[in-house]
Amino acid sequence: MRSEEIYEANAQQEVLEYLAESGDIDGAALGITRQVLSHGRGSLSAAQEAVFERHVAGEFFRMECGLCGDRMPTNEVVHALAEGNRYCSHCQHLTSKPD
Ligand SMILES: [Zn+2]
Repeated sequence: MRSEEIYEANAQQEVLEYLAESGDIDGAALGITRQVLSHGRGSLSAAQEAVFERHVAGEFFRMECGLCGDRMPTNEVVHALAEGNRYCSHCQHLTSKPD
């Protein structure tokens, strides 16, 4: 893998680890996410892969900023989820109030 691909894979792994604990996903998506963390995405059945792609990868690996609508880099997703507003780093900065 090229270094950018490794970087992206690491960022996705961080997102999955966050999602497994955070409560942002539940039900089948949560169970499948836990399986990906323990056994890899290649272990999913076709049906599980479809759920994962739709509810996890599609939503969180290609997340759009809740304010400007830009697709945010995967390495910003955990922060955006933790902040609770799903804004990209640019919009986080714009909307953060100075003390
Ligand atoms: Zn934004």
